[in-house]
Amino acid sequence: MSLFEHPDFDQHEQVSFFHDAESGLSAIIAVHNTKLGASLGGCRMWPYANSQEALTDVLRLSKGMTYKAAMAGLPQGGGKAVIIGNPRHDKTQALMYAMGKAVDTFKGQYVIAEDSGISVQDLQYMATQSHHVAGTSAKFAYDGSPADGNPAPSTAYGVYMGVKAAVEHVMNSSLKGKTVAIQGVGHVGLRLARHLHKAGANLIVADIFNEGVEIAKNELGARVVDPQEIHAMEADVFAPCAMGGAINDKSISEIKAPIIAGAANNQLASKQMDKLLLEKNIVYVPDYVINAGGIIDIYHQRNESSAQALRAQLEQIGDTVKNIITRSQTEKKPSEEVANILAEEKFKFS
Ligand code: NAD
Repeated sequence: MSLFEHPDFDQHEQVSFFHDAESGLSAIIAVHNTKLGASLGGCRMWPYANSQEALTDVLRLSKGMTYKAAMAGLPQGGGKAVIIGNPRHDKTQALMYAMGKAVDTFKGQYVIAEDSGISVQDLQYMATQSHHVAGTSAKFAYDGSPADGNPAPSTAYGVYMGVKAAVEHVMNSSLKGKTVAIQGVGHVGLRLARHLHKAGANLIVADIFNEGVEIAKNELGARVVDPQEIHAMEADVFAPCAMGGAINDKSISEIKAPIIAGAANNQLASKQMDKLLLEKNIVYVPDYVINAGGIIDIYHQRNESSAQALRAQLEQIGDTVKNIITRSQTEKKPSEEVANILAEEKFKFS
């Protein structure tokens, strides 16, 4: 398998493959860039069809973490880990111990955290083998409520600040009376819905499962629509909070909201989408800018910080969003391109 020729290889500092016959662990850890500090990023466990697919994922995700941390103003680099396997069937304690040992070989230059398929309990097993494991517990929440280590409340609050800033900037208005269409009301989407409801916004929601939509309907008065239609709603904001690729060849021509701002990672199915959105006069708030609340939370939990400092940094997401929209509009450049330039200025030339 070629690494240096891989289309997603982007001068990654280190890419390591791990195999442990006893536990059955097959994993890859990629450290993209540590110019600003040790790399941090979640571990994804997924039944990848082959190691090439896993490599592609870890190369892309680790690079994304460098940009996310730089943009959020954290003294941190980007890294990511993937375990090849089905989290529902292949997970064992021994596998997590082996993963913890793999993480420890980086001697702190890679700090592992939670991502899809990995729980707080899994991280606690890894933490028995390495000190370089984040997200095993939390000392405080940004709003003073009890914290359990789940970063979703911080992510949702950061997304809310970003949505609020985008509406203020683009529409010169508060959220009162505005309509937000949320795709996916899970850990982040439902919490975002609650913030928006409190601010007086009207909600339209969709999910492939009932639990979140029922709560949104009964508790927040949300209108529930089919998941196939949510992106095409007459709304002021479309907030993708489900999986990646919400903005794709098909959906782009159907989106009516003038603003796209949501929590999901990798919202643009391809690079061209960013340019097409600009041409259509739709303001796209880059996903890694608005959804940085999770890593901001982990950073503050690990660095003897406080709820107040965490909250202040989450609220800065709003200012960053306004800055990016302004530059995108004045320079007539796609917003993600603007964000990438700003992030690169921080981690390449600092
Ligand atoms: P989650 O799994 O709790 O919620 C996602 C929701 O989307 C689920 O309720 C799921 O049923 C729904 N969904 C899936 N496919 C759908 C579809 N086609 N249409 C409508 N709904 C659909 O996940 P989460 O933690 O809320 O994360 C949501 C997104 O935000 C993900 O893309 C994640 O990578 C990203 N993100 C999350 C965090 C965090 O702190 N949890 C941080 C940064 C980014």
